[in-house]
Amino acid sequence: MSDLIYLDYASTTPCNEEVLAAMQPYFTTIYGNSNSLHRFGQEALDGLSHARDCVGRLINADFEEVIFTSGATEANNIAILRTVKTISNGGRPLFATFKPEHKSVLDCANKLKAGGHNVTYLDVLSNGLFDLDSLDNALSNNNIGLLSVCFVNNETGAIQNIRRIAEICQWKGILLHVDATQAFGKIPVDVKELGVDFMSASGHKIYGPKGIGILYCKKQNMKYVKIPRANYEVEFGVRSGTTPVPLCVGMGHASKIAGERMHMDYGHVKALREKLVSGITSRLEEIYVNGAPDSSYPGITSMSFRGCEGEAMMMEANKIAVSSGSACTSNKLSISHVLSAMGISADIAQSSLRISIGRHTTEEDIDIAVDNLIGATNKLREMSPVWDMIKAGMDVDAIFQRAH
Ligand code: PMP
Repeated sequence: MSDLIYLDYASTTPCNEEVLAAMQPYFTTIYGNSNSLHRFGQEALDGLSHARDCVGRLINADFEEVIFTSGATEANNIAILRTVKTISNGGRPLFATFKPEHKSVLDCANKLKAGGHNVTYLDVLSNGLFDLDSLDNALSNNNIGLLSVCFVNNETGAIQNIRRIAEICQWKGILLHVDATQAFGKIPVDVKELGVDFMSASGHKIYGPKGIGILYCKKQNMKYVKIPRANYEVEFGVRSGTTPVPLCVGMGHASKIAGERMHMDYGHVKALREKLVSGITSRLEEIYVNGAPDSSYPGITSMSFRGCEGEAMMMEANKIAVSSGSACTSNKLSISHVLSAMGISADIAQSSLRISIGRHTTEEDIDIAVDNLIGATNKLREMSPVWDMIKAGMDVDAIFQRAH
């Protein structure tokens, strides 16, 4: 197990030791309920407030604009479902999002659709970015009340131009929710400069604990997400129940470290990604890096090894832990909705892997990964009838299309 090289940082990260140490007293000695008025409660509340400050500082949000949630999924749910429900009464019922969004956002969209709301799924360009000129037109339907956009795509790393999208939304009176789970703590995010209304982020993607995230909510938008008749309300009336102070403290501390290390972490993953990509593309043909080379977070790379099925690659490249863009369900290979939305051909999409690099990845890890992936590709291609067809110049994509 310890020999396995972890290259799945977009999925989750190990909790930082310093973060763990910061959380520890809040489990054992400062264990009060942050809602209690006695000293135990107030000490816990101090820790919670400090954590809220740390998160706020990282994204330039005010104290009361940071709402702790159980993760980005809950933050997405609150921002999208509650806002659409509230604004529907005012007559702007349409929700819009993009086809390659994270499943948690698409689940909200599907739920709204099933509940009778109008939902629009917007297209992206072949590099995964939004065509900002056509976005202006696509949002012209003046019934759109809320748009949800992913800042950094979790599969390709594509970084969207949030500032420009926010400008378009403001111009049209559309509220903007940004799923910043893969951007938060990794690239500069300033909610005020960007002009977003809501933003979701998660603790476990930035070397913090699992089970904690935040929803940034601009002050004047609180009315959209508050629980109407809350019982035992916490987090400014957006949640109820006892706040998990140790997890909040962990997210606060992880945010502080992420802010301090952002420049260094970014440079580190960028250099390693270049080594990974050049190491593979210089020694193998028919390798595709999916996404937007000029606008992507280098910690996340979607790479297709044509002729090799993604899940087979994961099994064969057994020195590394990565994610596959495709998944085999009910004997049928389902292709990544992200790559499909980008119009990437089925045969290239099904051969994709997501390789994500992080703070603890070393140059040696990348050397091993490169050799392992090259070995796996050569072995699978040797046995692959699809590879033979590709080499013979056949239109394999047409065959894949028929199979799906
Ligand atoms: N959005 C994006 C873009 C993500 O990558 C993830 C995590 N895979 C989530 C939302 C969900 O985050 P959490 O695990 O904190 O619920």
